[in-house]
Amino acid sequence: MHSKELFSEYEANVRSYSRSFPEIFTKAKGAKMYDENGREYIDFFAGAGALNYGHNNDYIKEKVIDYIQSDGIMHSLDMMTAPKAEFIEFFEKKVLEPRGLDYKIMFAGPTGTNAVESLLKLARKVKKREMIWAYMGCFHGMTLGSISLTSDAASRAGAGVGLDNVYHIPAPYMFPELDTIKFMQTLLDDDHSGVEKPAAIFIETVQADGGVNVFSVEYLKALREFCDKNDILMVVDDVQVGCARTGTFFSFERAGIKPDMFSLSKSIGGYPFPMGLAMFKPEYDLWKPGEHSGTFRGIQLSMVAAKAGLEFMLDNNIEAETRRKGEIVREYLEKNIDGDPNVIATRGIGLLWGVEVKDDATAGAITARAFKKGLVIERAGRDNAVIKIMPPLIISDEDLIAGLDILKAAIDGE
Ligand code: PMP
Repeated sequence: MHSKELFSEYEANVRSYSRSFPEIFTKAKGAKMYDENGREYIDFFAGAGALNYGHNNDYIKEKVIDYIQSDGIMHSLDMMTAPKAEFIEFFEKKVLEPRGLDYKIMFAGPTGTNAVESLLKLARKVKKREMIWAYMGCFHGMTLGSISLTSDAASRAGAGVGLDNVYHIPAPYMFPELDTIKFMQTLLDDDHSGVEKPAAIFIETVQADGGVNVFSVEYLKALREFCDKNDILMVVDDVQVGCARTGTFFSFERAGIKPDMFSLSKSIGGYPFPMGLAMFKPEYDLWKPGEHSGTFRGIQLSMVAAKAGLEFMLDNNIEAETRRKGEIVREYLEKNIDGDPNVIATRGIGLLWGVEVKDDATAGAITARAFKKGLVIERAGRDNAVIKIMPPLIISDEDLIAGLDILKAAIDGE
């Protein structure tokens, strides 16, 4: 049997990506992917935010290969190693300190959900409260703690057990007529509200998988004030929209706020290699030895690649470039896609944009047509009706526009 048929037989019924992109991919470089027939695709998916620095980034690759060639230590659990020390030092001195950010860095595990789980655990321990609030429309991961935060019904359906001690507050974009901050205050103050005070409020400053919903600067500032006033931790989940995706390295910088804790994963692993970070203000460093551990928190290649990724980001002005390219997308959408009869709305920030169409079927047909024309692009949102534009941040202007042209043609039924 041809490898593709064999693959479909095993995978297609359960793995949605292999259904949506029915080719076997063999190579990738920069913002391009290639299938087994050598066909080229522009990547507007970027591994759901894991490939901000592009596929097989030459600068990072060289550092990784050199490290392997040198027989550098590969795995070390929690032991001290040179790559770990170098990554921490670089991250602190070149990224956190210049931004006035003072946080402890905890290697939480290999993935985003590990980072979120760790913060969930720590927030509850710090405040000695079990209740957590998160937003309707949010996505925070798929393991039992993080999925209790995730509001998406389809994801929650996989849990198989009750998902307790999380209350989902209305996201302001869903209820424009409601003052959601006032509503939250009422939940706390009214002893008949039936909702317990949370240890923390988790927020993605831009809900990515939820359909590219951008929380305003005013809202984020108001939430910071609300949390301070009520002794609640503000936790930002930057797993998908961190690492410069929105035009600043940390997504919350846009609002000039400092969360009490935040998560990072995906592109922080540079190449990317697996890395999930739980970041928290030093006063919350309450774990004793043994209270948080895990084998794959000590992947040294991740640390080598993560440091190289940060170097690459700074040396190439990735934040400013992302803002500039974001304007290209904004202008393109305004000129060519807003007002299209098939399009309900467009919205976004940096290099994360959503094109909302009528329904799931329409969006699916558009992304399938786009794929046939050589564009890999995914969907998001509660009804899967938001087409998510998320290229690697290093994409050339030319490829960015070529990808948008394919999307436009696909929207128009071509
Ligand atoms: N938080 C956010 C905001 C995410 O977008 C994701 C992944 N889509 C996760 C957490 C979970 O990350 P992972 O898939 O690496 O577990």
